[in-house]
Amino acid sequence: MHFASGVVRPPFEAGCEFLQITSGCSHDRCEFCTFYKDARFAVSPWDEVEADLDELAASPWRHYDRIWLQGADSFVLPYDRLMRVAELIHEKLPWVKSIGAFARVTNFRNKSVEQLRALADAGYSRLTVGVETGDDYLLERMSKGYDSATVLEQMAKVDEAGLSWVGQFVNGLGGRGYGERSAVETARVYNELRPMMIYVASLTLFPDTPLYQDVLAGQFEEATEVERLVELQELVARLECDTVFKCEHVSMPVKVAGRVPLERDAVIAALDEAIALSGDGRLERYRAGIVSL
Ligand code: SF4
Repeated sequence: MHFASGVVRPPFEAGCEFLQITSGCSHDRCEFCTFYKDARFAVSPWDEVEADLDELAASPWRHYDRIWLQGADSFVLPYDRLMRVAELIHEKLPWVKSIGAFARVTNFRNKSVEQLRALADAGYSRLTVGVETGDDYLLERMSKGYDSATVLEQMAKVDEAGLSWVGQFVNGLGGRGYGERSAVETARVYNELRPMMIYVASLTLFPDTPLYQDVLAGQFEEATEVERLVELQELVARLECDTVFKCEHVSMPVKVAGRVPLERDAVIAALDEAIALSGDGRLERYRAGIVSL
């Protein structure tokens, strides 16, 4: 199999088999990101994709029915290429039922609603989209390369096409004192959309990121652990879209999940409990012990 860097996938996609059709990230500029630094963005040659699918087809290991496409945003590829990939997956691996991938918000710009619908019909589902926040200042501060209007425009197309997706939220992204604003703006955006899940990771800084250098230069102050939990409460309190809210990423010192708005009170109560137990430094010790994401 051809992999230009280590396999990166959300925890809930652990049961997939992996296939590389792009490597690296077509954007590669977010201030906090540590991923794909060992591989520049590239489109896999078609003969490599074919060879990898032949290898999977020949393997007796078939305990999967979903393929996860490697790379930060393989959905940047044009419609025709993605359709060809889906067709070849189904031809070579007929037991595969669905195909997932990370996607950037901007990856949908070059596709119509009809094309997105056809991709959903071809098996693409549960794309994980790094929305991160709905706050325009923060999106620019973190060099995400889009604004909240773009999120609303592009993800509404994805919803209209019936292509399911998970939105990622980065807890604590704004740093000290900015949590409420990020929560309010993120709820504003998600309430216009239909993500099947909002998946929370908490900002965890590593030395090889520009944002870490900003911390050293006194230009960014990390949010406290309690501030982050209050930010999540604010977000959950404002979410009106029917979705799953899940904080189970390794970066979360507190694991909480529930359906919103149905289980809103239970999620907020669980976060209250975590805040009440937080005084002994256990949350800070947890974050300090994270060595990679
Ligand atoms: S956060 Fe995602 S889009 Fe941004 S540089 Fe990292 S992989 Fe690329």
